[in-house]
Amino acid sequence: MSLHQTIRIRHETRRRRLTVASIEALTPHMLRLSFVCADLAGFVSASHDDHIKLFFSDASGKAAARDFTPRRFDAAQGTLTIDFALHETGPATAWAASARVGDVLEIGGPRGSSVVPDDFDWYVLIGDETALPAMGRRVEELRAGPQACVFAVVRDEGERLILTSAAELTTHWLHRREGDEDAEMLIAALSSWRQPDGDGFIWIAAEASVARSLRQYFIEQRAHPREWIKASGYWKRGHAETHEKIED
Ligand SMILES: Cc1cc2nc3c(=O)[nH]c(=O)nc-3n(C[C@H](O)[C@H](O)[C@H](O)COP(=O)(O)OP(=O)(O)OC[C@H]3O[C@@H](n4cnc5c(N)ncnc54)[C@H](O)[C@@H]3O)c2cc1C
Repeated sequence: MSLHQTIRIRHETRRRRLTVASIEALTPHMLRLSFVCADLAGFVSASHDDHIKLFFSDASGKAAARDFTPRRFDAAQGTLTIDFALHETGPATAWAASARVGDVLEIGGPRGSSVVPDDFDWYVLIGDETALPAMGRRVEELRAGPQACVFAVVRDEGERLILTSAAELTTHWLHRREGDEDAEMLIAALSSWRQPDGDGFIWIAAEASVARSLRQYFIEQRAHPREWIKASGYWKRGHAETHEKIED
């Protein structure tokens, strides 16, 4: 296999029913729900930024689907963990905020995985609360050796998480103040950041316009190779249920 080659894998998908086994408030606005599922055998999630569809239906039976990250899973034990960043409104937020042990949730996927190899010299992961599950999983799964640098924007100090990694990890927490724009805060923090030597992969997930601005920053200001950047809109201000792959 050649150096730095991303591998794409398709998975057979089917719907599964999960049952809430435990609920933990990681922070005031981040809920960790662990689920058990009798038929998790065959569930595959090969990459930290895979997504599963969560299906919700309201009192009138109207269905909605939202994308979430399989934060941790153990097919043999039949357990899956999902972290929910709670925000103002939406079926996923409302469901998670009122979930109780024993509640059932239907999921689908992941349909595929895009696996970025661990042969880079360094990794930068940038995102907001919705990206923290994927960033946390990525740094946990990295081998010892490369440098990993996380830039995370959260509402305040109370929303910081403990991230662990075998890699050489540095985490920069940025807290929003009234009127702060995530993209400006992140770019200001990045402008005083010294990029390590060697080849690096940049992963970005945030509100779509923020992810777009950051990708542009790395292309224009740091002349970073496009193929070593992956940017995604994990949500879009004013829109429900979005997932944007940010490209030229
Ligand atoms: C691949 C992928 C993986 C994801 N993984 C996770 C994950 O593991 N955990 C997680 O919490 N989220 C994750 N997200 C983001 C999540 O899907 C969105 O935040 C989604 O909009 C939540 O659904 P909802 O029903 O709560 O809100 P929606 O009904 O979708 O949206 C309602 C309103 O809230 C706004 N909104 C949505 N998200 C936010 C936010 N974070 N802050 C402020 N306003 C918001 C929308 O613009 C809309 O106006 C992921 C998204 C993608 C694409």
